Amino acid sequence: MSRREEIAAGLAGVRARIDQACSTAGRDPASVVLIAVTKTFPAADVAHLAELGVQDVGENKDQEAAPKAQACAELTAAPLRWHFVGQLQTNKARSVARYCDVVHAVDRLRLVKALSRASADRPRSVECLVQVDLDPHSGEHRGGVAPGKVSDLAAAIDAAPGLVLRGVMAVAPYPRADGPDPATAFARLAEVSAALVQRYPAASAISAGMSGDLEAAVAAGATHLRVGSAILGHRPSPG
Ligand SMILES: *Cc1c(COP(=O)(O)O)cnc(C)c1O
Repeated sequence: MSRREEIAAGLAGVRARIDQACSTAGRDPASVVLIAVTKTFPAADVAHLAELGVQDVGENKDQEAAPKAQACAELTAAPLRWHFVGQLQTNKARSVARYCDVVHAVDRLRLVKALSRASADRPRSVECLVQVDLDPHSGEHRGGVAPGKVSDLAAAIDAAPGLVLRGVMAVAPYPRADGPDPATAFARLAEVSAALVQRYPAASAISAGMSGDLEAAVAAGATHLRVGSAILGHRPSPG
């Protein structure tokens, strides 16, 4: 099998899982955006994805993503939207704002300010999602603000020039004995989203769900899935 065929098969498998999960949940598959997370995979793989109809790709490290986005602009004519899905250091905000349209893990005021300043260099606003910590009591911090702190950060994004508040994002908590399972955690995220949407009707995006838990995320109302290994295979190195 060529790499292109491998990726096509992975993509078809994930699309079938999404269709099945939507049908179980009574949702329209068109209401779910699949973001192919391409971290650690080469630009050539992104070009295959683009030619297979993927429009949204996700990365989590600026030093890897910036040259990849540039290479892809030369490799493929298909339009791509780049999503930054990882922890973002403030000093990388300027670089990320050059090629990313959406930043998923906004979790502190300093980052809001840095992204707002960086957005001055681009023609369009940077779309921001507030990362929510769905298990704030665990020792293993996966980033994000506690649910009770979401509205303050959302207000800061909403007020920041050059930024658009799009919604919330979360990563399922690490499994632990008395911690929440993905379904419980994503249900909590849906509640946080509903409260946010009351105040900001356009901030309706819910970014949740990865290769292992996309069904639970779709069931809980996720609008954006971030899927890497189920499409592209095992990552050659940690990322
Ligand atoms: C790597 C990553 C993903 C994709 O994970 P898979 O298990 O490979 O699907 C999703 N979200 C974030 C934040 C990631 O870092």
